[in-house]
Amino acid sequence: MSPSPHFPSPCRPLWGAQPWQSGPHHSMPLWPHGATLQRGHAPSRCSAMTDSTAHTVTHTRPMPAPSPRPAAPRHGSAQTQGRVTALRSCAVCSGAGLKGRGAGLWAGLWALLWAGGCGQRRLRIEPSGQRQRGAMAGYSVEERAAPHSIEYRLFFKDAAGRYISPFHDIPLYADAGKNVFNMVVEVPRWTNAKMEIATKDPLNPIKQDVKKGKLRYVANVFPHKGYIWNYGAIPQTWEDPGHKDENTGCCGDNDPIDVCEIGSKVCSRGEVIKVKVLGTLAMIDEGETDWKIIAINMEDPEAENYNDIDDVRRMKPGYLEATVDWFRRYKVPDGKPENQFAFNGEFKDKDFAVNVIKSTHEHWKALIAKKTDGGEICCTNLTVSGSPFCCSQECAKATVDAAPPCKAANPIPPEVDRWFYYQKN
Ligand SMILES: [Mg+2]
Repeated sequence: MSPSPHFPSPCRPLWGAQPWQSGPHHSMPLWPHGATLQRGHAPSRCSAMTDSTAHTVTHTRPMPAPSPRPAAPRHGSAQTQGRVTALRSCAVCSGAGLKGRGAGLWAGLWALLWAGGCGQRRLRIEPSGQRQRGAMAGYSVEERAAPHSIEYRLFFKDAAGRYISPFHDIPLYADAGKNVFNMVVEVPRWTNAKMEIATKDPLNPIKQDVKKGKLRYVANVFPHKGYIWNYGAIPQTWEDPGHKDENTGCCGDNDPIDVCEIGSKVCSRGEVIKVKVLGTLAMIDEGETDWKIIAINMEDPEAENYNDIDDVRRMKPGYLEATVDWFRRYKVPDGKPENQFAFNGEFKDKDFAVNVIKSTHEHWKALIAKKTDGGEICCTNLTVSGSPFCCSQECAKATVDAAPPCKAANPIPPEVDRWFYYQKN
């Protein structure tokens, strides 16, 4: 399928050949004791859109079999904070054509107890209504192609159903006065598929990372199962690969800043939540700075008790240690060395973390204003005032229309459930 002619030129087409990176997965014969978790895969289907409310997920998938997990907390009423403001038609696009150039053991075992009920198949589609509006701040998602396929994309819409970029059009802050940030959930807790905002694709949908032509699933390094937090990114941030971080001495990883959300709810892929920042870990991934922000969902029933990193240490014993262990070792089964950390793997506090986020927001502002060369990053957006990459809603719709239709989810390879064991250094 040919790409839309409306793509700003730095954006590579969605459905063309992509530059896979190399790296085997699950191919190392070092862990002969890999255990397999029992897990079924629920049948999956796409169905008609049901855009009858202010917020609706525009694809549906049958709910998985009931799990022992407690019910998710009820969410508050719809908030206007953090919503994308009214879209406007940009002069560039609507005029003479588009010119924009565009721990521990216990944590893992606990995870295991619950993993049988969620697994990769889980894509919770909330019932329509206020809960969704509260949880998603008015955003919705639209799925294209089959989940767990190379072509899969999850596009974002605002409360009015207009397509947006989750990278550029969702505001940094949900409440600037209280330092509450928006977070885009890419990977629900306990799942393995490495879903991420496609920074180089038009509209930056979520897609599954691919290496050497294969869909990427993170390995389960004992005692962990999948991601041990809801994992995602803070919009309107960018770890500039041309900027050497004064704390780590390493340049950025060219992505929005990562977040580990530690609340009790297992979020959905593509969910936009409001988070309270608690601290940060400075991971060094193959020579690049890769900050990991620790945060908690503002909707979590315990959120008011968490105000800094020490609260996590005190009330979720082992979680921070497990977090360092997870990031240190998760690539080892893929043949990579252990990751390193600045500050000797110590977590920095809330104030430090907020400053890191603000710094990456400044780098994003330079990127979106074309004051920094973002290389292959696609900066096409709908709402950023003054950005030369602004495009019209028609342009955005053409991008989504060019994508394949939603399809039933592909099965997850059973080897994804394998557990890997190796001796710590
Ligand atoms: Mg990162």
